[in-house]
Amino acid sequence: MFQLIFGEFVLHEYGAQTWAVVKSLAQDLVQSAFKRSSYSSGSSSATDVQMHANLMQITCQQTQLPVAVVARAYGLFFIEAAVKKGFTSVIRGVGRDVVQFLSNVNTFVVELHLSMDMPKAMKPEFQVEKVTETSLELHYWSTRAGLSSWVEGICEAVASKVYNTQIQFRLLQGREDGSCDHEVWEVTYPPVAIHNDCSSSRIMEASPSYRPEAELFGTLFPFHVVMDANLVAKQVGFALGALVPDLVIGAHVNDHLKMNVPWTGWDFKTRPITIGVRSGCVLLETKAGIELKGAFYPTRLSDGTPALLFVGTPRVYTLNELEACGMNISDIPPHDVTSDFVVLAERRRVDTETAKRLEEERLDLLETAKKLEAQRLESELANMRLKESLAQALSTERLSGIMGSKFKYNTPAEQTIKILDKLLMGETIDSEEAISLRDNILSAGKDFHKPGKRTMSKLRSMNKDADVSRSLMTLLSIDEGAEEEPSQSAFASVISMSKASSWGDEEEDLAINSFSMFGASYEEAGELASGSFLSSMMKNKRNLALSPNSARFHTARGDTDLLILEEPSDKVLAVLAKMDNWQFDSFELDEVTSGRPLSTLAFAIIRNCSFVPNIEEHHVRERLASFLRKIEDGYPNNPYHCRIHAADVVRTLYVILTRGGVIKSMWHEACDMDLLVAILAAVIHDFEHRGVNNDYLIKTGDELSVRYNDRSPMENHHLAAAFQVLKQDSNDFLKDLQPKARALARRQIIDMVLATDMKQHFSQVSMFNTKFAAIIDSKQKGMYMEMPTDEDTRSMVLQMCLKCADLGHLTSSEKVHRRWVQRLEEEFFLQGDHEVAASLPISPLMDRTKEGVTKSQPGFFSIVVLPQFQSFCDVFPGCEQLLEALQANNMMWLNEG
Ligand SMILES: [Zn+2]
Repeated sequence: MFQLIFGEFVLHEYGAQTWAVVKSLAQDLVQSAFKRSSYSSGSSSATDVQMHANLMQITCQQTQLPVAVVARAYGLFFIEAAVKKGFTSVIRGVGRDVVQFLSNVNTFVVELHLSMDMPKAMKPEFQVEKVTETSLELHYWSTRAGLSSWVEGICEAVASKVYNTQIQFRLLQGREDGSCDHEVWEVTYPPVAIHNDCSSSRIMEASPSYRPEAELFGTLFPFHVVMDANLVAKQVGFALGALVPDLVIGAHVNDHLKMNVPWTGWDFKTRPITIGVRSGCVLLETKAGIELKGAFYPTRLSDGTPALLFVGTPRVYTLNELEACGMNISDIPPHDVTSDFVVLAERRRVDTETAKRLEEERLDLLETAKKLEAQRLESELANMRLKESLAQALSTERLSGIMGSKFKYNTPAEQTIKILDKLLMGETIDSEEAISLRDNILSAGKDFHKPGKRTMSKLRSMNKDADVSRSLMTLLSIDEGAEEEPSQSAFASVISMSKASSWGDEEEDLAINSFSMFGASYEEAGELASGSFLSSMMKNKRNLALSPNSARFHTARGDTDLLILEEPSDKVLAVLAKMDNWQFDSFELDEVTSGRPLSTLAFAIIRNCSFVPNIEEHHVRERLASFLRKIEDGYPNNPYHCRIHAADVVRTLYVILTRGGVIKSMWHEACDMDLLVAILAAVIHDFEHRGVNNDYLIKTGDELSVRYNDRSPMENHHLAAAFQVLKQDSNDFLKDLQPKARALARRQIIDMVLATDMKQHFSQVSMFNTKFAAIIDSKQKGMYMEMPTDEDTRSMVLQMCLKCADLGHLTSSEKVHRRWVQRLEEEFFLQGDHEVAASLPISPLMDRTKEGVTKSQPGFFSIVVLPQFQSFCDVFPGCEQLLEALQANNMMWLNEG
């Protein structure tokens, strides 16, 4: 506090630079002093005092001013600061004029001590003597020399600032010249009226007519003590006796009570009588730490010896403190305001306590609110995390992650779902998203599951080989945009061909070559498309039937149809025994069955199917055998899309559904109907395949593309033609099926076969992914989520199963797989040959003079096959083996490239 004021003082009087120097010098001094005395005196007041003295000393050195000047200025500044801080009334309370103030300056020091908590050692002692109307003598004792000018400054400042009076100090005696042990001033002032009522001598000198009895005196002053010149207690008030039990008559007072303020101490030897007079106000402290505020008065014992009387009251602020001293209100005499003060203080304490409690409650509430806020934040965070995981589960990023990040489709459907999920979760969408959502809605009717232009360009960039990219785009029906439209010219040429009334050899050769890959089954297609130019062509050009199977078909009618009704040979049984293996060689089955792999295999599976009514009856089995044979015979001898392929797909589908656990997880039990439906779909899925792709049918304006409006003409034909076969009474092994079940089976087969059009690839995979995203996510998190087993989902799963089975050769052994790829390449080259013959641009990878599909395998794997199988195996981990085999073959092609 002093330091603070002193700092302000130096700053104000001598500037910041001086203060900085003074401060640093003083601190060095104090630190070294503190180190020296750190064990003997750790109290802060010691360092405070030290610091104060040092500050004063250093300031004098720095300003090269005498101590008197600096101290005086400091005294003035000190009072100015005190006045500014609101101590005017405290000072004014000490005396009504400057003379009274000086007379009671000890009280001022005590009050200052109480209100400012000043360092104890700074307490000086003052005494006023020889008071006249214009002057008085001021005596000043203090532990420290050299601060007398400070006292002058203080007193002058009090006089001028508080009492508006100018006073002058004249030093009469002092320590500096050794003339006295304390300072004595003559203080002069403008004339004032002297009030002597504070002088004790008046009562002492008058002859009072009343003296209180000892008992009454004790009641009036329960906290009094009378002591002789040797400080021996001669009389002790009962309350003080209770408070300080050891203070008994005959005890040394200074053994039990410590003089707190003023500093003088129990010095009776030099000033035994005057102490009380000049110490208008004192504080004594008991050993228990209770302060007594009171005064000393000179008196005499009954034998006439001079004595000193102390009368006081405990300085307690609350009833609690009072009780803590073993006292209560009744110990305080009724005339003493201490009781009022304590009660008042108690009331204030209660008020304060209440306020404190309310404040604490408020803080508690704040704390609770904080906790709640934290909880809210936490739950918000959890919510966000939930959202995140939800978003993750639903996001296409996740899906592409599941698909091994091979290829990110980002179809409009996935995009739309992503935006809708965002809205669902209360997030805002940006304008770009809103626009794409709008665009997606506006393009309703288009295939939402087909990737956009961005995917297309990505696909291009993935494959540096333009042919591979183009072939994939054609295969997957990705709109290439403003690319040339070769189908136009092709269509025109075919139309012109069909319109030709008479064909020259050239045209005829062209036509024959164009359709040579359609095989024998073209005859039936021709029949279906009766009246068309193709049908007339068929009739005229029987030699178009190139397939040797065609001959077998016709000769096989009758008895051979039923061969499969017999128990298969051991050789066949040995191959059929491998049916449950993940990898299978359908060429081997073809060999042992003498070209009957499809009917043999399908019959073996279906003949035990309880779903077929009366399957045990011979005529039903006959019909089944007849149907299977006709379908088998309807497969032309294409290099790839032949009956062996159909058998291979049936076999792979069978193992996926049974060993792969699809039936089990989707139906929870063997379901004959769905197994039958799936197997039948596989049996017919490439029925009467022309050995060319849909693109070719469309661009040549083929009758099938005309009939089916360019929409999956080949797949539509497989179905329509196969159902025509089933319709024939001799083949209809499902004749006795309930119409409703029959309709359901038919619908299911149609859905499955149509889904094998690779142009539906993105739709299929994207829908499958969207449907099972949550399942896959929960599986990866080790949680169980029940499989949706509604009819739509089951249908979708079956479609996906057939799609996988259709690419089944990709999962077969390297040797078998290579054989299939070579066959496919040859089939493509054949289409290329037809394109050449028809003067059409050769489709990518179909040019015999260039490299074929064998070089496009890595692209096909990464864009089409791996994502599809990964999605599928994520949902049906029982089929994991397929994925492994697939990856092995992929590695093989990659190593080759
Ligand atoms: Zn196929």
